[in-house]
Amino acid sequence: MALYLKYRPLDFSSLVGQEFIKSTLKAAVAQDKTVGAYIFTWPRGTGKTSTARIFAKAINCESPIDGDPDLTCSVCQSFADENLIDVIEIDAASHTGVDNIREIIEKAQFRPTQSKYKIYIIDEVHMLSKGAFNALLKILEEPPKHVKFILATTEIHKVPDTILSRCQRYDFKNFTPIEISGRLKYIADQEGITVDDESYGYIVKSSEWGMRNAVSLFEQLVKDNTISYSHIIETLGIMSEDEKKDFIMKLLSRDASLLEDFESIANSGKNLKIFFKDILSNIQTESIRLLQLWEDVSANIHVMDLLSDMLMKSKNSFDEIMTYKIGLLKITSSYTAPSSLSISNPSSTQTPTTTNLSVSKTHSINDNTQDDLVASAEDIFALDTPNDNLVWKSTVSPSESSTCTDIDVSKLTLATKENGWKAALSMTLKWSTYSLDWDILSISTKTSIAKNTLNKTENRDILFLALEKIWVSVSDIIVS
Ligand SMILES: [Zn+2]
Repeated sequence: MALYLKYRPLDFSSLVGQEFIKSTLKAAVAQDKTVGAYIFTWPRGTGKTSTARIFAKAINCESPIDGDPDLTCSVCQSFADENLIDVIEIDAASHTGVDNIREIIEKAQFRPTQSKYKIYIIDEVHMLSKGAFNALLKILEEPPKHVKFILATTEIHKVPDTILSRCQRYDFKNFTPIEISGRLKYIADQEGITVDDESYGYIVKSSEWGMRNAVSLFEQLVKDNTISYSHIIETLGIMSEDEKKDFIMKLLSRDASLLEDFESIANSGKNLKIFFKDILSNIQTESIRLLQLWEDVSANIHVMDLLSDMLMKSKNSFDEIMTYKIGLLKITSSYTAPSSLSISNPSSTQTPTTTNLSVSKTHSINDNTQDDLVASAEDIFALDTPNDNLVWKSTVSPSESSTCTDIDVSKLTLATKENGWKAALSMTLKWSTYSLDWDILSISTKTSIAKNTLNKTENRDILFLALEKIWVSVSDIIVS
């Protein structure tokens, strides 16, 4: 039997969290003061079906203990065997029409057969059609004494006020990490499974605060009665901390080469959703730390915004990888101006922290053409650090040009900026390979887009001028 089913809570006592709601509902049962209609609203995965069922069971239990079902009476037994015909569960997502609700109303007139009340649990009630809501409203206005409704929804704002005003409302909260790991530890104890702390942390973080997700993942990860983090890394293909740090550093410095990194991450079959969630939460943690030191984190917030937007879109995307790529392009194309010159050499390796310290303003260059939207961090930073240009200019002398057989791509990229800065051109230059045969420069590109970019007349002009600036004299450029 799946662990999730085995450890599904059967009464309020075994239900994790939601202390206030539990005690209120239990008190209502104990004092026999339950009302005709309830509406439960919650974020996903907070155990809505479990709670609604336990409550229905408690209401009908022949001898509840302090409002908790006793689990032994005939009603509780039939419930366990899923034989209790007086508790009717309806998934509004698949029964949205007015006819479904009419049918309920008709059947509701008949008294319950096995227990005190006929209880209707309508899950995802916000999915009902307008007509169905009106029909439901009619019965909620004058419910037969032997009928109770437990409505449940994850989107309370879609439920009409007329319905809400006739229900007692309970807002469930997400499980806390402690509640989830507590439950997992309990299951591990019961099952004799050894789990290390890192694994608990990983499962909780991956569960989206849903107990069912957490327990299912927990079960998947058990191997020889053990869950170890090294095994998780192996089976789920998650990234090592160093790989993540490297990626975050590139994200925060808008380094377009992270698109190449992403390509290889995607090809390696790693779980991309978990990867990006991890990245997001790492940046968040770091930002909170920096904020406490009164550092400016606006650039981080901008990246987090774009990352969460990307994760949202990936959920309904027809092509998940494409959505991630577009998201990363958006991030790398955001223009960030450094507030000080503390980043003197932007192409050197930086930790995200030092990047954060010196970045103050963030704005997008949306008014530029799409072609120009993609920029690498070096390009951006170099734009505002003219000193860099001076440095390399003074170190390159004309005499060196005669022996030059290689193209220094970073110098070439910098030089193109002086003749009209184009991010797409910079990126293309960076991703291409060069060979110089006498005075003919051959550039081989990786994509047809890159090839087209380099073949544009205006870009060729920029390139010729830039080559001159770095003392490479060519008579022709051949792009392949
Ligand atoms: Zn009972």
